[in-house]
Amino acid sequence: MASVTLENVVKRFDDVVAVNNANLEIRDKEFLVLVGPSGCGKSTTLRMIAGLEEITEGTIKIGDTVVNDVPPKDRDIAMVFQNYALYPHMDVYNNMAFSLKLRKFPKDEIDRRVKEAARILGIEDLLDRKPKQLSGGQRQRVALGRAIVREPKVFLMDEPLSNLDAKLRVQMRTELSKLHDRLQTTVIYVTHDQVEAMTMGDRIVVLRDGVIQQVDDPLTLYNKPNNMFVAGFIGSPAMNFLDCKLVKEGDKYYLDGHGSFKIAIPEDKINEAPEIKEYEGREVVFGIRPEDLVDASIKHDFDVTDDNSFTANVEVVEPMGSEIYLYLGINDHSMIARVEAESTAQVGDNVKLGVDTRKMHVFDAETEEAIF
Ligand code: ATP
Repeated sequence: MASVTLENVVKRFDDVVAVNNANLEIRDKEFLVLVGPSGCGKSTTLRMIAGLEEITEGTIKIGDTVVNDVPPKDRDIAMVFQNYALYPHMDVYNNMAFSLKLRKFPKDEIDRRVKEAARILGIEDLLDRKPKQLSGGQRQRVALGRAIVREPKVFLMDEPLSNLDAKLRVQMRTELSKLHDRLQTTVIYVTHDQVEAMTMGDRIVVLRDGVIQQVDDPLTLYNKPNNMFVAGFIGSPAMNFLDCKLVKEGDKYYLDGHGSFKIAIPEDKINEAPEIKEYEGREVVFGIRPEDLVDASIKHDFDVTDDNSFTANVEVVEPMGSEIYLYLGINDHSMIARVEAESTAQVGDNVKLGVDTRKMHVFDAETEEAIF
């Protein structure tokens, strides 16, 4: 069993609380991604699991064993870092064999493991090359190979792709996912890149200032963010946030953007979160992703009416090929819409935009928590 459990884990560096009361259960064979902006405590969390950093308070377990006082080498984990320094004077074979030799593994067992890892990673033909004769991606594979040969219960990876160029990073992302399927081990992966997190993670942990904000599978994080931080961090371009007031007219509830827009909240959203009614007359934040705003002149799978549309001024048009990003202004609000490539909106136009209200979000303006 290679589950990893954090119970009330705190890490303080003098007066900095790097990790604040983390509770997390990483399941056996899961690919779990820790994501968040710089300084949010991702690496510290990983280093505590690895045993490279002492924990100030709390308990860490690997399987059923409390590892708080277990030295790193006895934790049955392997770590892959961003700066995967390979030994320059050793060939690929020996770079991969090194840790097993240190542990005095028999020669034929070392040979079996190195060749197996090389086969999995597709680097069998490179075993006698030195690191300087390899490309960046090949070096990264060797670094992974060094971890794989240890056959650890848990892989810990700290931004392992960040030194690669964009194209290789995308390719290695897929390879790492496939590798995880093949190895069937627990992987805990740190990145600040939400795209990497979304494409690779079985589940994602979003961290902010040392505090876990949400732990969920990628689609749930995207569709049901707990708060404005998660909503704004996951998705690119980021979700639009617009200040407004919740008002009731007749039996309908509206988000009133102080003259900029007035959007009716669909009944099923009210039924989903009836507590929204308590916000009547109060300031709230309307959240809508750029992909959930449409150019009303193009037909969609919902009807654009006065209740779900508004007019905005086009400030910038960014054609992306398959779609167009419109940067829009309405009064003092600015926002982005991702519309179909057929849109003919030009800079300076006032365009009518439809809101796919099935995908709208409303947040408490004070706590920034999601109402729905
Ligand atoms: P990045 O993406 O920039 O690597 P991170 O999310 O991995 O950031 P950590 O490296 O875990 O963040 O750091 C969390 C907080 O702890 C930061 O405020 C950092 O300055 C602080 N910190 C980390 N290591 C130490 C240390 N050895 N001494 C003092 N403060 C530290």
